[in-house]
Amino acid sequence: MVLKIRNVTKSYPGQTAETAVLRGVSLDLAAGRSLALTGESGSGKSTLLHLAGALDHFDSGEIEIDGTRLSGLGDGQRAALRRRDVSLVFQQFNLIPSLSVGSNIALHARLGGKWDTGWGTRLVDHLGLSTVQERYPEQLSGGQQQRVAIARALAVRPKLLLADEPTGNLDETASAAVMELMLQLVRESGTALFLVTHSAAIAQMLDHRLHLQHGTTA
Ligand code: ADP
Ligand code: MG
Repeated sequence: MVLKIRNVTKSYPGQTAETAVLRGVSLDLAAGRSLALTGESGSGKSTLLHLAGALDHFDSGEIEIDGTRLSGLGDGQRAALRRRDVSLVFQQFNLIPSLSVGSNIALHARLGGKWDTGWGTRLVDHLGLSTVQERYPEQLSGGQQQRVAIARALAVRPKLLLADEPTGNLDETASAAVMELMLQLVRESGTALFLVTHSAAIAQMLDHRLHLQHGTTA
């Protein structure tokens, strides 16, 4: 399993075990598979996604990324694991405005010594970005910008791709198109995709679905 979550609980300061955001969540996600997490606003979707990316601490339970238990790791080890195995895509595309599209896509992969020109070209071609590589993010449509963010995330060949409402800023047509391209790429690369969405239509496109309610997915 690329991602294994067992009975995880999480509360924020001021919350008790009874009012905790997560009150015992478990899930498994295998390489090349995709999982959609749905739930009301405030149900804890982003919290769970952050925990799955080793971006925050949980109170009890266990999370494993590609066989490594997060509970035993110090901050430096967690950061190293994130750099090695995890990529993120958010609703706000978070592109660097002063860098060209091509440089945005390659940046993390180059910094991590993981840039592979063949794979980079495959991503750019598949996502329809080959003619806009010299442009800057502000010169692109929202759908194009999100495709750049997806290319950047996959350029490092992550084991786990975490996406929080990745198409939340796009209209329905652009959203479905971007999702379709992303799903083809995660299958092709063997990346596991854990995606938060409020759209039932998007959730249906993925391999598995979980609904978060009252702190659990039961
Ligand atoms: P969702 O993504 O499903 O909308 P979140 O995971 O963002 O839900 O938030 C779940 C609950 O936890 C909400 O009640 C929110 O206010 C609270 N929360 C989220 N982040 C923090 C934080 N850093 N500190 C305190 N409370 C938080
Ligand atoms: Mg959220």
